[in-house]
Amino acid sequence: MGLLSLGRKPLKIGLIGLGKIAVDQHIPSIRGNKNLELVAGCSPHARPEGVQAYKDMDAMMSAHPEIEAIAICTPPQIRHEIARQVIDIGRHVFLEKPPAATLGEAESIKAMAAAKGVSLLASWHSRFAPAVEAAREWIAARELRSVTIHWKENVRQWHPGQRWIFEAGGMGVFDPGINSLSILTRILPDAVMVKKADLHTPVNCQAPIQVELDMLSESGVPIRAEYDFLQEGVQTWSIYVESKSFEKLTLSMGGAGLEIDGKTIAQPKEAEYPGLYKHFYELIKKGESDADFSPLRIVADAMLLGRRIDAPEYIE
Ligand code: NAP
Repeated sequence: MGLLSLGRKPLKIGLIGLGKIAVDQHIPSIRGNKNLELVAGCSPHARPEGVQAYKDMDAMMSAHPEIEAIAICTPPQIRHEIARQVIDIGRHVFLEKPPAATLGEAESIKAMAAAKGVSLLASWHSRFAPAVEAAREWIAARELRSVTIHWKENVRQWHPGQRWIFEAGGMGVFDPGINSLSILTRILPDAVMVKKADLHTPVNCQAPIQVELDMLSESGVPIRAEYDFLQEGVQTWSIYVESKSFEKLTLSMGGAGLEIDGKTIAQPKEAEYPGLYKHFYELIKKGESDADFSPLRIVADAMLLGRRIDAPEYIE
């Protein structure tokens, strides 16, 4: 497709997969951006109100060949094949997180997009949470002692009916946990290696429901992550950082809240997905891509190195 003549007409967008995240975030974020126009979507069954919806991508593209860019909001197990079809017809691609079910698939999507000359955004919405950049700057000026991640939520509350999460390739509790890893890999200056992982996996599921993960940064900072999909009561999406001189930074609410040495630091009220779509538009305008797979690599390494521990049956 080459560079678009952006600036006069809004970029025409189609959605593939019209489930929870498409409805909660993609549709309102596209509609809230004057440079973008939501043309249509497709999904086997879902028919959100007010969206021109088709059963599959072929039907959507036959009816709307004017679509220039496509956001893929399906479960990850089928993302690679859909991305291949989107790139084949020369449309720019926005991948929901995680970018694919495996690193091999993610690298393949990146190579195909580069060969075709379309822009690819492998999105990590949590990197667009308002306090993430401030945390990154704080860390850049310090030597660290430790990092601890607590990402604990109730799967029954946040993912009702999403059976794909516990199937092979669905990642289980890493589906939200990878969001913490997308922040971690953004705020730390060096690479992260997995050292140990305990993967508590219900006997009737293929993916873990609770994980304890020990990592080490290249410069030797120990990082401990605890992921829990069975959290009752207060839900926690926090990252605690301690410097060598015992200063403390806490990123809370998935990166929306920031506390330094016990003092709350006010953050702008920016939502993640409007920022992501602004970034996608800018990438297309500049003819660039953004595809960093480091959070997926950590999950893959945890699965490679981890011990599978049987957990009680999970029934929704
Ligand atoms: P979801 O509610 O299960 O929605 C997935 C949708 O994909 C369903 O509506 C399903 O269609 C559709 N789909 C399945 N196969 C398809 C195909 N071959 N072609 C087109 N559409 C297909 O899941 P979700 O929560 O939106 O999650 C989707 C992705 O977004 C996941 O990777 C997840 O990690 C990510 N994400 C989710 C959240 C969240 O809070 N839920 C937040 C950030 C990112 P039908 O319903 O029509 O059968």
